[in-house]
Amino acid sequence: MDMSFSAEELAFRDEVRAFLRDNLPDQLRVATHNTTSVFVEKDVNLEWQRILHARGWLAYQWPVEVGGTGWSPVQRYIFESECARAGAPTLVALSMKLVAPVIYTFGTPEQKAHFLPRILSGDDYWCQGFSEPGSGSDLASLKTRAELQGDHYVVNGTKIWTTHAHHANWLFCLVKTDTTVKPQRGITFLLIDMNQPGIEVRPIITMAGDHDVNQVFLDNVKVPVAHRVGAEGQGWDIAKFLLENERGGAWHAPGLIAQFESIRASATGRPSSRPGVPLTDDPAFAAKAARLELELSAFEMIEMRILGEMAQGRRPGPQTSVVKLLASNLHQAIDQFRLDVFGYDALQLETRRPLYGNDRPEAIGDPDAQLAMPAYLNSRAWTIFGGTNEVQKSIIAKTVLGL
Ligand SMILES: Cc1cc2nc3c(=O)[nH]c(=O)nc-3n(C[C@H](O)[C@H](O)[C@H](O)COP(=O)(O)OP(=O)(O)OC[C@H]3O[C@@H](n4cnc5c(N)ncnc54)[C@H](O)[C@@H]3O)c2cc1C
Repeated sequence: MDMSFSAEELAFRDEVRAFLRDNLPDQLRVATHNTTSVFVEKDVNLEWQRILHARGWLAYQWPVEVGGTGWSPVQRYIFESECARAGAPTLVALSMKLVAPVIYTFGTPEQKAHFLPRILSGDDYWCQGFSEPGSGSDLASLKTRAELQGDHYVVNGTKIWTTHAHHANWLFCLVKTDTTVKPQRGITFLLIDMNQPGIEVRPIITMAGDHDVNQVFLDNVKVPVAHRVGAEGQGWDIAKFLLENERGGAWHAPGLIAQFESIRASATGRPSSRPGVPLTDDPAFAAKAARLELELSAFEMIEMRILGEMAQGRRPGPQTSVVKLLASNLHQAIDQFRLDVFGYDALQLETRRPLYGNDRPEAIGDPDAQLAMPAYLNSRAWTIFGGTNEVQKSIIAKTVLGL
C-alpha cells in the first residue's frame, strides 16, 4: 500500500493548513478542547459551519450537484485530519452527515431544494428520532405509529436518547405505518417540524452532568405527506443507508492521535503514585502510554487501508462496523489514560457547563484536570450510540468473517 501523498495532495494540505491558521478562531479551538461530550454545543457548531460555508468547504462530503466540493476521498481525509490536528470543532453529524445524504439520495426535488440550503445556512438544525424505550439495538421493533389521514400523517409515540433535540427545529424520524407486514417492511422515514403542537422535549441529564440527550413525545403530530422521504415502507432501507454513514462518515484516527498527544504532553511535570518519581519516569505509566500509542497507530493503518479502497471507488461497507468498534474502544481508552495522567486531581466532577468561556467554573489544580472525569463518564456512550459494541461484533461476524 502506497502511504504517501502526491504533490497535488501535499499542496492541498498546505492550503487547508493555511486556511485553519487564518480562520479558526481561538475561542472555537478552546471550546472544542474543553467539550467533554461527543458533540460540541450548537453555537460552536454553527459558528464553525458559517466559517466553512463562507470558504465553500462546508459540504465537502456532498456530491458536487448539491453543493459539494468535488474532493477525492484522499482530500477529504486530509481536510479532516488537518482540522483535527488544528483542534477545530468536529461538525455535529446530525444535519450535515446524516439527514442531508438521505435527502439528496432519496428526497424529492422539492425536498432537496427546500432543505439542503437551509442545512448549509444553519437555519435548520436536525435531530434523529430512531431509538425508543425498548427499541434500540432491535430498532425494527419500534412502535411510534403514523396513520395516513388525507394529505398528512398523524404521529403518536415517543423517541428517546434524542441528541440535541432541545436545540433542533427538525426531527428525522422512523415511524410504523404498517403493522401487518414483517417489521422492517412497515417502517417509513418522516421529516417532522419540531415547532408545532403535540411535541414535547424532556431533557435527560447524563451522569457526567451534560445535557446532550432527551426524550421526545409525539402526540397527534401532523406531518404532511410531502415530508415523507422515499415510499411508505422504505424507511428501513433508508435507515440502513444512514447508519452506514453514521458509522463510517468520519476519520477517527487523526483526532484520537491529536487528543492522545495533548494528554500525554500534560503528563510532563506531574507526580506518579511513587514518591519522588515523576509520572513520565514511571515504567507502568510509560508502558500504558506506549501500548495506547501502538493501538492508535494500528488503527490509523486500518483507516488508511480503507482510504486506499475508497480512493479506488469502493464503498467501505461493513468495515464501518470495524471502525466504529475500534474507535469507540480507543475513545474510552484515551479518557481512561487522562484519568491516569491527572491522578487525584481527576476525581473532581464538575457538572456545570460549559467548561469554557468567561463563566467557566474554577478548576482544582491544572485546568485540564477538570475535563478528565466528565469526559471519562461521557465516553461510556461511545460503545452504545450508533449501534453498541455487541451489535457491531455481530455485524462483523456475519458480514466480514462470514460466521
Ligand atoms: C449518548 C447517546 C446519544 C444517542 N443519540 C441518539 C439519537 O440522537 N437518536 C437516536 O435515535 N438514538 C440515539 N441513541 C440511542 C442509541 O442508538 C441506543 O442507545 C443504542 O442503539 C442501544 O439501544 P438501547 O439503549 O435500547 O440498548 P439495548 O438495545 O436494550 O441493549 C442493551 C444491551 O444489550 C445488548 N444487546 C442488545 N441486543 C443484542 C444482540 N442482538 N446481541 C448481543 N447483545 C445485544 C447491547 O449491546 C447492550 O449492551 C443515543 C445513545 C446514547 C448513549
